[in-house]
Amino acid sequence: MWGETLDVHALTGLVEIRDDEDARRAASVDSGRIVAKTPRAVAAPRSARDVQEIVRWANRTGSPVALRGTGHTQAGQSLTDGGVQIDIQGVDRIGPVDERRQTLRVQAGATWREVVGYVGPCGWMPVVLTNNLDTTVGGTLATGGVGQSSHLYGTQAGNVDELEVVTGDGRLLRCSATENASLFDATRAGLGQFSVITEARIRIRRVLSRVRTFRLVYDDLDTLLRDQAQILSRRRFHYLRAWCRHRDQGFVGEDDDRPEAGDWSYPMDVSVEFDAEPDEAGLLAGLHHRRVFRTSDRDIAAFADLAEPTPLPAARHAALCVPVTEAWLPWSAAAACVTRLFEAFPPALLASTNVMLRPLGPEPTPMLMFPRKGPVLGFGLLPYIPAAALQSALPVVEAAGRRLVAAGGKRYLTGWVRRGPDEWRAHYGRQWTTILRWKETFDPHGVLSNGFICYGPRP
Ligand SMILES: Cc1cc2nc3c(=O)[nH]c(=O)nc-3n(C[C@H](O)[C@H](O)[C@H](O)COP(=O)(O)OP(=O)(O)OC[C@H]3O[C@@H](n4cnc5c(N)ncnc54)[C@H](O)[C@@H]3O)c2cc1C
Repeated sequence: MWGETLDVHALTGLVEIRDDEDARRAASVDSGRIVAKTPRAVAAPRSARDVQEIVRWANRTGSPVALRGTGHTQAGQSLTDGGVQIDIQGVDRIGPVDERRQTLRVQAGATWREVVGYVGPCGWMPVVLTNNLDTTVGGTLATGGVGQSSHLYGTQAGNVDELEVVTGDGRLLRCSATENASLFDATRAGLGQFSVITEARIRIRRVLSRVRTFRLVYDDLDTLLRDQAQILSRRRFHYLRAWCRHRDQGFVGEDDDRPEAGDWSYPMDVSVEFDAEPDEAGLLAGLHHRRVFRTSDRDIAAFADLAEPTPLPAARHAALCVPVTEAWLPWSAAAACVTRLFEAFPPALLASTNVMLRPLGPEPTPMLMFPRKGPVLGFGLLPYIPAAALQSALPVVEAAGRRLVAAGGKRYLTGWVRRGPDEWRAHYGRQWTTILRWKETFDPHGVLSNGFICYGPRP
């Protein structure tokens, strides 16, 4: 819409602007490698004031603005066609720790790896870390942020006490549950649609130095989910992650195991922090796994840096598209929904798809949509697809996404999501009216609308 006609040079005296071909091309895709949108320029602020200058300029010129951390989404959530992309990574100061309140001040462009490097040596860790530490603090607070301790603590967005933001109309404000509370609610998991996060006070906790992991293997999903429910209700284990593994994905490593019957096995890693020897028998008592392996103990910092196991050799990932399809399923419907979904999924695609199962603890973030009642299970399909096969595979992946919603699930919005206004309204349900009001209040000229969420005609 704006493209070459936009005069970004009015911004050059205010912040660093990159508008050469290389910079614009690099900013035109995200990690999904499915959508391409080329910005007119990339703005690289170094402070909250710089961000404010850019947003005020956007309001004066009417230029759309997109916000980007490290671009790990899969449907172009951080991209703009012809607008200005704010690369927040230069706003990256960390500290100090507030020991009494158990919080850390950190600017939005710092990565979680940098945060771990800052607090880890002093015996602290963020309450929740995602599996990928190379994302920015702002990027995951704007989307949710789920990880191995989410069964105890919920999301990263739910574990932030205060934010500093620049609203879509250019105000630099602090917000929390007690100060500018609706701005706080709109911003956490708000996908950058209302404000730009510039700084956060995130919760941290004291950790023990070592982590012991047990890999429990199940042959059926119902039993695994029963055990997960037990772990959730008794708040057992500091960390938990589980997945579904298809026979065609191969079974490698000393601690992996083939299913005794059927095509699927369901491994679950449960981990405890320890200084002195943990009570293994007590920890595992009452669980119903078929086998258990003890993996080697790890130092807490090495444990925090956990990449997801992938179904394909790492060298091939760079050339693949990953239309991640994740949803929060009602616990009671999860096993039946997943079984039906597998039956309809082409076997050839299953072999190159990671399937994650992540239970979630209490979650106070209004912009994260969940099934109406009770505990929820995060179910994620991560299909690794060669670019040449993408167009034929996408309808299959999208059909799987619709099945998850039809089973009462709510999509997690970091992945591959393509929707029209009616589907967005259905996703947010009763929250939609509030969202439209927040949009009017915090971003009245729509400069932060980059087209990912379709608002439809204004009421
Ligand atoms: C390999 C891989 C593993 C992953 N593992 C997990 C996982 O375990 N758990 C999980 O929850 N997610 C996971 N994700 C998803 C990832 O955490 C999210 O996509 C997250 O948003 C990425 O952060 P980012 O810095 O890359 O943000 P971007 O992708 O750059 O931005 C994400 C969204 O946030 C907005 N945004 C960015 N910065 C700001 C800001 N400062 N203020 C306001 N809005 C902003 C953007 O506009 C966009 O809508 C994974 C993704 C990949 C590719």
